[in-house]
Amino acid sequence: MSLNFSKLFSSKKRQDIQQVPSQIGLPTNVKHDYHVTRNAHTGELEGLPESWIRLLNAQITKEEQDVNPRAAVQALKYYNYSIKKKPTEPFKPLITAEQIEEESAEIENILGPKVLAGRNIPTWGEDESPKVKQKLAPPVPPAKPSGYKAGGKVNQEALVNHVQQALDEALNLAVVDGDTTGLKKHEEEEICGSPLLRKKERSTEKLTDDQIYEELRRLCHPGDPCRRFDRSKELGAGASGTVFIAYDTETKKKIAVKDIDLSKQPRKELILNEIKVMKEFNHENLVNFLDAYLVRNDHLWVIMELLDGGPLTDVVTETVMKEGQIAAVCREVLKAVSFLHGKGIIHRDIKSDNVLLGMNGAVKVTDFGFCANIVGDEKRQTLVGTPYWMAPEVVTRKQYGKKVDIWSLGIMAIEMIEGEPPYLKETPLRALYLIAANGRPAIPRWEKLSPEFKDFLDCCLQVDVDKRATADELLRHPFLRNCMELTTLTPLIKAAQKILGKGAGIDLLHK
Ligand code: ATP
Ligand code: MG
Repeated sequence: MSLNFSKLFSSKKRQDIQQVPSQIGLPTNVKHDYHVTRNAHTGELEGLPESWIRLLNAQITKEEQDVNPRAAVQALKYYNYSIKKKPTEPFKPLITAEQIEEESAEIENILGPKVLAGRNIPTWGEDESPKVKQKLAPPVPPAKPSGYKAGGKVNQEALVNHVQQALDEALNLAVVDGDTTGLKKHEEEEICGSPLLRKKERSTEKLTDDQIYEELRRLCHPGDPCRRFDRSKELGAGASGTVFIAYDTETKKKIAVKDIDLSKQPRKELILNEIKVMKEFNHENLVNFLDAYLVRNDHLWVIMELLDGGPLTDVVTETVMKEGQIAAVCREVLKAVSFLHGKGIIHRDIKSDNVLLGMNGAVKVTDFGFCANIVGDEKRQTLVGTPYWMAPEVVTRKQYGKKVDIWSLGIMAIEMIEGEPPYLKETPLRALYLIAANGRPAIPRWEKLSPEFKDFLDCCLQVDVDKRATADELLRHPFLRNCMELTTLTPLIKAAQKILGKGAGIDLLHK
């Protein structure tokens, strides 16, 4: 089997870095028991499938394997788990605690229960030798860079149901308490990992296609959107559809339309559920859903707010941000993350590509809906998200919870300082290894940062999940006292758009 890693980042610049497709033969449906040991003489890991060993030896040096064999095996497992996913299993960044457990069990079983049972490899949680703690020098020359789209097995239907239930629950509690205390209790319970949500039969389960279309017609705005929306420039294409700018002739405002070809959607009921859920999610720091239309029965138009400044990635790669501007972006993203966490939802794909900007300096988080896959979409064969923003516990599967978003925010802050996340030039497997082995990454410009910013980063990039701050704690951090006005982002956006040759289409449309 050969895999094509063509899909990577939405930013053009990053695509350029990672364009080379990787052709690696990997085992699928491996269910045998493997007993991993380390050869005392050669230092090599033994007992893994041959192709895995080849992959490991090609990308992670023997010395590195020796320094942290557990991180090497864990990175390999996570990597192979991620790429074995089928295109019919949609990846969605949003995930709940229950699904994390399901995903961890699947990763653990990828080679069978005996993996990592080797006597030379310490189990997680055991004291590591000083050698293991030693930081690893960045790496051997990367092999072929390849695309990697993160994630684990996510039963999207269950997710949407869970999200809906979390939402119902949160709203109920808030009403009962008459304030937000209910939300807090809700959150605390979830941190402890105990299941907190009622199981309900959802009306959308096991519907026929006809029933789904009937329900869709009921949920969607009636009529032909082409009469109301004047569609123009294409902004880009994602996994589930293509995004266009359009002019709303009723409100006289520009909006974004995501055009989803339903005939290519393997599980239409998920889209249905998503519309229901997305309608409930409204926050000033989320890219909000406005409406949905059914076009000719096989296309769904999802109308969203238009963020005409493009992704934060353009700004971080092209311009140098001041600390006050970085603080302002962090504050806005934290407000969105706090909102989601308050509802028991983890975004798990926080990165500059998923933060969209308005020309006025609005900062909004996106990519929490409509991430379903298209049947036969080659680029989705790999699924599985970008590893560079992943918290160590995503790889190690230790104490995986909502704080993964806080780590990712810290990595995004590094993007705002350095222009890119750590290890971006490494292959995904190597990046996973380095994240698991090194923990907190080095920040080259560290000495130039203010004490408040350093402390903020310290709070985000704690490997120990318990020591890592929550979104609400960070919203009170002194670093955010020095936020600059959001409008100061406008010149940065304009400068980035000019360099990248973007923006003119948005500016000139119906001016
Ligand atoms: P994925 O399928 O993983 O979400 P993607 O984010 O590249 O990949 P889309 O979400 O379909 O794909 O978005 C396509 C392009 O349109 C991206 O460049 C994105 O930044 C842009 N875009 C998406 N939504 C909006 C919006 N509401 N306003 C402005 N631009 C948007
Ligand atoms: Mg997207």
